[in-house]
Amino acid sequence: MAAFSGFWVTFKQMFRPRVTTPYPKRKRRKPQRFHGRHVLNRYPDGLEKCIGCELCAGVCPARCIYVRGRENPPGHPVSPGERYGFVYEINMLRCIFCGLCVEACPTEAITMTQLFEMSVTHRDDAIYTRSELLMDADGSVPHPQPASELIDLEELHWADGWMRATAPAGRAAYEGVVAWTPTAGAGLRPAEPAQTEGNIDEEEEA
Ligand code: SF4
Ligand code: SF4
Repeated sequence: MAAFSGFWVTFKQMFRPRVTTPYPKRKRRKPQRFHGRHVLNRYPDGLEKCIGCELCAGVCPARCIYVRGRENPPGHPVSPGERYGFVYEINMLRCIFCGLCVEACPTEAITMTQLFEMSVTHRDDAIYTRSELLMDADGSVPHPQPASELIDLEELHWADGWMRATAPAGRAAYEGVVAWTPTAGAGLRPAEPAQTEGNIDEEEEA
């Protein structure tokens, strides 16, 4: 009899709505400030935002960033600063996706995207180098794995949501004021939901 009552519990569950999501056939919409893989940004004119200051590597609690800066070549600057990051590596196996590197960066060079599908078959492939992190001049971002049912490369274009909130213009008094710089390849992003333009606090502005 006890066995039948067990079957009855199972039978009843069959007609209840499913609480799980059939991933990857259906993907849940991610929050705008989702912490996915990193990207190194450019200014709209193509110059790299990274100035090789190594602050991101210094603040990283997992010690998974390796940066080396180099003087910009005279007449052919790579970045607007004196230096640029000519070596940049992140070990994704050690990264805990805390976002402290994004917060520490003085030029908003490093941001996080919404892409988290990064499975690899060799440990070395989990170390993303400059060629995989730095966006191209048209704003596209290289990714080691090709697009597939699992990997939606469009998610690489959503790299700014978290950075907006921690930028100076993200203070409460400036909520809704579109003050962030355009992203190469994606232009100026719309304000986040529930924000409207023009509600800047007059006193704070003064
Ligand atoms: S997200 Fe955190 S752990 Fe990952 S590289 Fe940045 S600072 Fe390091
Ligand atoms: S990503 Fe930002 S913090 Fe890291 S080296 Fe480049 S400019 Fe400095």
